[in-house]
Amino acid sequence: MIVRDSSPVEGTAKQSLTLPVDYTVVRGRRKTMAVLVRHETVEVRVPLFVSQAQIQDFVSAHVPWILRKLAHKAEQDAQRPDLRDGGSLHYKARTLRVRFVSAVAEHVDVTVDEIRIHGRALTPERAARVLQRWLLAEAREQLPARTRALAEYLQLGGRLKEVVFRKTRSKWGHCTSGGRIQYNWLIMLAPDAVIDYMICHEVCHLRHMNHSPQYWALVESVCPDHRRYVRWLRTHEHRLWL
Ligand SMILES: [Zn+2]
Repeated sequence: MIVRDSSPVEGTAKQSLTLPVDYTVVRGRRKTMAVLVRHETVEVRVPLFVSQAQIQDFVSAHVPWILRKLAHKAEQDAQRPDLRDGGSLHYKARTLRVRFVSAVAEHVDVTVDEIRIHGRALTPERAARVLQRWLLAEAREQLPARTRALAEYLQLGGRLKEVVFRKTRSKWGHCTSGGRIQYNWLIMLAPDAVIDYMICHEVCHLRHMNHSPQYWALVESVCPDHRRYVRWLRTHEHRLWL
């Protein structure tokens, strides 16, 4: 059972405590209290029978941590793609200025410091569609061949059945036991070395369907810098989400 009661700290009985955060309390069958910081919202998960005072004390003790988290999320949000004319987009590890170009044929081209989105009567939504179609076309053109080449090199070509594309909310790549490799084409916004790592990650799953030491040894044999790219994705992937 889950009970939600919205309780900003100011509105509760303990008047001495005025905390700078609003939070929602979610009661459920659990043994401990926990704070979850999502985008601009703070949720406190607590056991069914915990008093308001206990919850307040718990939140109070976590305020510095909560504020740090909220600031970090706000910073990440500010770095997300801004597809207005004059906005910015992180593309292959550099920040490009977005330019709308009025044209009949939809197209995208990249200069040293600009990404130019061509189309008719562009709005941020239309620009996003043009950009996404372009990224998908780039992915289709490049990723199957690069995947096939690495699979052949590792003598896993026979196991690779197909390469497909899908924009998922949380994953960059996926490999099934049937030999189907799936990529999120937004990865085309990442630097080529990161794309190579992602290809390597999935192709190595054709031999090991897990993340065992043997699997990572195979990854390392092809991509010795893999830790760096995992770190890059962890730090920057929020900049790629359209
Ligand atoms: Zn994996």
